[in-house]
This record gives sequence, C-alpha cells and structure tokens, in this order.
Amino acid sequence: MSEKQTTALALYSGGLDSTLACRVVAAQGIKVVAVKFVTPFFGYDLLPRKEEYIKSTKENFGIDVLVKDVTLPYLELLKKPAHGFGRYFNPCIDCKIFLLSEAKKMMPELGASFLVTGEVIGQRPMSQRRDTLRVIERDSGSESILLRPLCARNLEPTRAELEGLVDREQLLGFSGRNRTPQIKLAQQFGITGYPSPGGGCILADPILSRRIQEYYLHHKKIVTTDILLLMVGRQFKLPGGGWLVVGRDQQDNEKLAGLRKPDDWLLQPSVIPGPTALLRYSRNADELEIAAALVARYAKKSALVQGVAIIIAERYGVSRQIAALALDDSIFQPWMQK
Ligand code: SF4
Repeated sequence: MSEKQTTALALYSGGLDSTLACRVVAAQGIKVVAVKFVTPFFGYDLLPRKEEYIKSTKENFGIDVLVKDVTLPYLELLKKPAHGFGRYFNPCIDCKIFLLSEAKKMMPELGASFLVTGEVIGQRPMSQRRDTLRVIERDSGSESILLRPLCARNLEPTRAELEGLVDREQLLGFSGRNRTPQIKLAQQFGITGYPSPGGGCILADPILSRRIQEYYLHHKKIVTTDILLLMVGRQFKLPGGGWLVVGRDQQDNEKLAGLRKPDDWLLQPSVIPGPTALLRYSRNADELEIAAALVARYAKKSALVQGVAIIIAERYGVSRQIAALALDDSIFQPWMQK
C-alpha cells in the first residue's frame, strides 16, 4: 500500500517569495495547496476572473491555488489592530496573524499537516523581525505548524521537520533584504514573470491608505462598497456632505457604474465619452446641480456649448437632465480629497 502523501497549505501572495516557498516544499514530494486571500486592499481584482487566475498560476508556476475572499473580517480587523499600524494604514503584523488563523481553519478540510509562508527573516522592518515572527506564530496559534522554507535554517525546527515530513537539509537559510538568492532560486526553478516584491497592498500606498484611514476615522459602520469607492477616480467632499467621485478614464467609469447602489446618483454628460460620476450620501437637493457642474468641468470639450454641458443624472431608474455650467477650479479645489 502506498504511503499517503503529505499535504501543506501555503499562504500565497502571488509574489516571488511565496511562489518559491511553495516550490521548495513541493520539490520534496509534498502536495502543496496555496491559498490566495483577497480583500479590497489586495487581490480583489481577481474575484471576477478567479478561474483564469487559478489556471494561469498552475500553468506559469506549477501551483494549485484557491482564492478566498476575507473582506468582512478584514474590514473589522482594521478598526483596531492589536499590534498597530506600519508606516501607513498597514496593520502588517495583525494582517499576517489574521491570514494565518484563517489558513489554519482550512487545514482539516484540506488534510494539511502544516502551513507554509514565504517570509524571510529580516526582510521587512516591521513584520519579519525574529521576535515579530514569533509573535505572529503565537497569536495565530500556528506555533510549530508554520514552516518558512526560505529561512527555515535560521529558525528552530518546526514539527514538520522534527517528524520527518520535511527534510530540513533541503530548506533554505535566506535572511535580510538582499533579493539575489531568491532570484537565483527562481532561475533554478525556471520561474519567470513574477511581480516585483512589496507591491500590491493598497494599505501601504501613501495616498490611498490615507483616504481609507480618514474613512475609518469618520465612519462607525464600514461598508465594503464605500471602501471600493475610495480607490476610484477623483474624490470630492461636497459642501452639503455628499460624496462625489468622478472617473478619470474608461476603467474608472466602468468601476463607478459597477459600484453604484440604488440610492446613488449616477451622472454622465449627454455627449459621451465623458466622465461617469457617482454621488453618494447626498441629502441636499442642490448638491446634484453642483455635482453636475463638476462633471461638466471634466467633460470633453465636445460636450460643451459655451461652457455648458447637458448632464444626465439617474437614480432609481429615473433620469434628470441638468444644463450645467462647468464649475471653476477655484470653487471646487477645497472639496477635493487627496
Ligand atoms: S503589506 Fe498589506 S498585505 Fe502585506 S502584510 Fe501588510 S497589510 Fe498585509
């Protein structure tokens, strides 16, 4: 009777380190299942093209990946992360603790014996120090079941190594910020086309993370579509309290149309292409006129006749036509959100 193959569950970001971590473990004949957690801050664009992503990850990197949306608990976590924030609104330590805890919950169903991450000791200032790695293990309840194959030789042996499921000799001893060892290892595995390290998390983006932080400061109830809306287009806080977002390009315009809720106004010049705009939380009837004037400001010249554009505003299936004079920049600059 053949021996049952060991299974490991890997946290997968899609970056080089987690890709290598999966491959290093798989090279020992272990079945590796990777999980890509997504939230509005990382990986969210994969949700509509999940199947394609799963297929391309297998084809390009030889990795079997699952995609799991953890938005709601993650939005809660951001309210008060126990270990605080990094330079921006990035709660890296709690993020890792949370994602590991989620992965740990998945282990029984997948028959996984241990967890894998692509962390490298000393690579990131906050979340990859030796003491922080221990805190992450402890608080996620993954002490002894978490293998970090890229730097395992610099750490105490884990249960998988002690029990002989993994050969420690074939694990690596990377440390620090130098990426050369990873790049060499990628060449050995024939891995190309991986994204550059560190990119991809909106919570570590100087501008967008500030917007999100502001939102958290001023809202008790955190709404997923609000969070998604914060990441699109030009943002305005109108004098009456309404929130106007004006698309900068076709991609923004499509996102805005997709993010509208039934009580949002959707605005567009009658002559398109022009910006689509979304007005949310407006309680002031005059604000629609102001929003239309702002849309006229960003409309194409072809939509204007003597500085006036016809803007179509629509809500609950009812359309209104507003003849709007393009608003002067000096008026709306103070409403613009960075
Ligand atoms: S950069 Fe973003 S995804 Fe990465 S650990 Fe920090 S909060 Fe989590």
